[in-house]
Amino acid sequence: MKAETPKKKKVVKTIRIDVDKCNGCRACEMACSTFHARPRYASNNPARSRVRVLFDPLRDLYVPVYAGDYAPAECCGRDRYTIEGKQYDECGFCRASCPSRDLFKEPDSKLPLKCDMCQDDPQLQEPMCVQWCITDALTYEEREEEVEEEPAPAQELEVGLEALADRFGMDQLLEAVTRMSAAKKP
Ligand code: SF4
Ligand code: SF4
Repeated sequence: MKAETPKKKKVVKTIRIDVDKCNGCRACEMACSTFHARPRYASNNPARSRVRVLFDPLRDLYVPVYAGDYAPAECCGRDRYTIEGKQYDECGFCRASCPSRDLFKEPDSKLPLKCDMCQDDPQLQEPMCVQWCITDALTYEEREEEVEEEPAPAQELEVGLEALADRFGMDQLLEAVTRMSAAKKP
């Protein structure tokens, strides 16, 4: 008989997006990029934001999209969306940081960006993008769910190293690390 997978309680964090209330001010992009700058608040560059506001000029419509998981390969197929008679770009609402576009990548290093819900210690009451959205297009919610135990998620460091290995090759990456480690030795 198959053993039952252990369950655990999990707090699910959600940002509800009301596109009808979004006016395209991009304060969410600013707040996210400056909160994640190193040192914190030292710079402000929306290209480094983990939320990006897409704009449809014909309908004066703004759609905030959050950075999701890193995908090392492009999709084999593409989706097309028709909403109220208008066709949207196949990648328009996709949250992935993937090789087919520059969205959700650090502009300099090309490392993938992912929304981390502003994880911090102590925890923020609300993520920064929600705090700075004065039109309430973004609202924060938490709920508790019972979920199956999962293996520990890949750490940010591993995701970054994987992206660098994909871009430059494992040999070049190892050479660079060896060089850096030799330079740091006293
Ligand atoms: S801060 Fe709010 S209103 Fe401004 S662009 Fe972002 S989601 Fe839209
Ligand atoms: S929740 Fe935090 S990390 Fe995610 S997009 Fe908003 S400000 Fe950025």
